[in-house]
Amino acid sequence: MKVKRQKTNKKTMTVFTRSYGFREPYQVLVDGNFIKVSLDMRADVRNTLPAVLVGQVKPMTTGCVIAELRSLGEEFMGAVIAAKRFEKRRCTHHQPIPAADCIGEIIGSSNKHKYAVASQDVQLRVQLRKVPGTPLIYIKNSVTILEPPSPETIIHAEQLEKRKNEPLPFEISVRTKTVAEAEPQSETSPTPAKKKKAKGPNPLSQKKKKPKTSAPPSQSNQNVGPVLLGDETAAALEGAAAVVGTKRTRDDDDHASKDDDDHKDGTDDEHQELPSPLTDATESTDKKRRKRRKHKKSKKSGEALDESNGSAGDSSPADA
Ligand SMILES: [Zn+2]
Repeated sequence: MKVKRQKTNKKTMTVFTRSYGFREPYQVLVDGNFIKVSLDMRADVRNTLPAVLVGQVKPMTTGCVIAELRSLGEEFMGAVIAAKRFEKRRCTHHQPIPAADCIGEIIGSSNKHKYAVASQDVQLRVQLRKVPGTPLIYIKNSVTILEPPSPETIIHAEQLEKRKNEPLPFEISVRTKTVAEAEPQSETSPTPAKKKKAKGPNPLSQKKKKPKTSAPPSQSNQNVGPVLLGDETAAALEGAAAVVGTKRTRDDDDHASKDDDDHKDGTDDEHQELPSPLTDATESTDKKRRKRRKHKKSKKSGEALDESNGSAGDSSPADA
């Protein structure tokens, strides 16, 4: 046998061994025609089948197969003798039926006893391809051939593989029990852990945030407050801003009268700090102040001169 064909046959048999539980020695139901063709090839079924299935084989026949071979005449006597050497699989047919029907009945719809079938009956093989997990062997051109797994066999094997990964019913029940038992624990244990985790940082954060937490409500109050205060203060500020222009002129006049020349620069700085509209408004007042200061200077200089003549101490008129 060619090495390549042996490899493919081995792959085919692994499908049956993995997915359908086939084990050596493989039980092969052999029909009369297959035995006859093998004898015509001068090949022994007990040698060819193990080579094809790549493993130990137990060839088997039924009473119906032997009965059919006998009915075919002397030409098939060699096949009858060969078939009688094989293990006889009991069938329920007291009156022999065609070998194909007998084998088909033994295989049934599921091939639960895990038989391979070596048959030259095309109709039988077509029928058995529909039964998943049934290796089929036939001889063509003096070559014993193991059919590749039928589509039904492949599809059913994939389904079986999926089922293997699925949990069994008792596993599901156990899992549900464990989950049900674990759920309260998990609710108590993980959530405390979470609560601990949550409690751990929270107290610390609360301690730090306590001023913050006390602040946020105050901020919230402040958020409300400023709006109220804002209106009041805005109105007050507006009033104040309106008054500032006039008041400052008066204050400055008073300061000017009190502090005189010492705060000339300071008053200028204050006016520089004022916003631009006020500066525009105060520019005219500055000019007036300067004029007044000049007048007062001239007056004070005259007074100071008069006072210096009299008492040279407290020169500020504000004290008086
Ligand atoms: Zn039978």
